[in-house]
Amino acid sequence: MKVTDHIKNANGKTLFSFEIIPPKKGKNIQELYNNIDPLMEFNPPFIDVTTSREEFIYIEKEGLFDRKITRMRPGTLGICAAIKHKYNVDTVPHVLCGGFTKEETEYLLVDCHYLGINNVMALRGDAMKGEQYFKATKGGHSYATQLVNQIQNLNSGRYLHGVLDVDDKADFCIGVAGYPEKHLEAPSMKTDLKRLKEKVDAGADYVVTQMFFDNQKYFEFVEAAKKDGINVPIVPGIKPIAVNRHLQLLPQVFKIDLPESLIQEVEKCKDNKQVRQVGVEWCIQQSKELLDAGVPVLHYYSMGKSDNIKAIASALF
Ligand SMILES: Cc1cc2nc3c(=O)[nH]c(=O)nc-3n(C[C@H](O)[C@H](O)[C@H](O)COP(=O)(O)OP(=O)(O)OC[C@H]3O[C@@H](n4cnc5c(N)ncnc54)[C@H](O)[C@@H]3O)c2cc1C
Repeated sequence: MKVTDHIKNANGKTLFSFEIIPPKKGKNIQELYNNIDPLMEFNPPFIDVTTSREEFIYIEKEGLFDRKITRMRPGTLGICAAIKHKYNVDTVPHVLCGGFTKEETEYLLVDCHYLGINNVMALRGDAMKGEQYFKATKGGHSYATQLVNQIQNLNSGRYLHGVLDVDDKADFCIGVAGYPEKHLEAPSMKTDLKRLKEKVDAGADYVVTQMFFDNQKYFEFVEAAKKDGINVPIVPGIKPIAVNRHLQLLPQVFKIDLPESLIQEVEKCKDNKQVRQVGVEWCIQQSKELLDAGVPVLHYYSMGKSDNIKAIASALF
């Protein structure tokens, strides 16, 4: 079922969902299941599975370093299919522009269609590790809007290079990313919202936000988006702080602000066990306010470990 249908069928009740990351190449999928199992009692109607970009690795060979390119966390679609089969829940693979040609994207979407996976998150992806700016892959897309266009073309039975004999159209529900504190590369919030509107006009059905720690940022973003004519559901994506290092890492990577009182609470902690607890408590308060505001879904970034997400969900659902 489509994410947007889950939202409609909930009749205003806030749903619980979460995002997971594929294990590193060579690791067992059981650990992922061990982290999903405790969250299933909260009835997530869908689970997102991220896609990681390819990266450069350097292999030493006779005193010289050989540069290879590899994907360290492959398996997004396989994991989506496995979870759908194991838990009977909808899964949302993240589909990236970066690292994929349009042909490869088409093959991936055809596989999704055959597997009965009819939700996808359409994302540009970040710059490759070690590179400052995003560079489009040769034969791939430069912006998420173009990816949304390609997916919508498939929904209309239009494949690349004009395949003519089409009697089985896809019917993808498309999610895209939104940034309550502006995408790091956007010159202004106004421009970023204009770009978001372009994604929605191209056919995106819903938006999931980047993490934020101050709900006011989300409320203002939703209001501004509505004013600009963005009328699809805007799902808040939230993440509990888990380690002290997040105080520097999250602002650096995502260009987001952390509220002063959260910083003070984390700084009082003696170890990361205490930080994890502060993160849970902050996230419960944030989630309660978002629930009261009637958000369609509370979508959690689990980053692979679910004990904190379970503690949060237990307090709310
Ligand atoms: C919910 C969520 C899930 C994510 N999942 C993943 C994941 O699984 N894997 C991963 O690698 N990354 C993921 N990301 C990160 C995402 O890939 C990055 O934030 C990336 O830098 C931007 O992706 P986007 O889809 O928002 O890009 P876009 O919508 O293409 O926007 C990128 C930038 O370009 C600007 N822009 C857009 N269109 C144009 C145009 N026509 N001309 C000029 N500028 C334009 C925008 O304002 C923005 O600054 C996720 C992010 C979110 C919020």
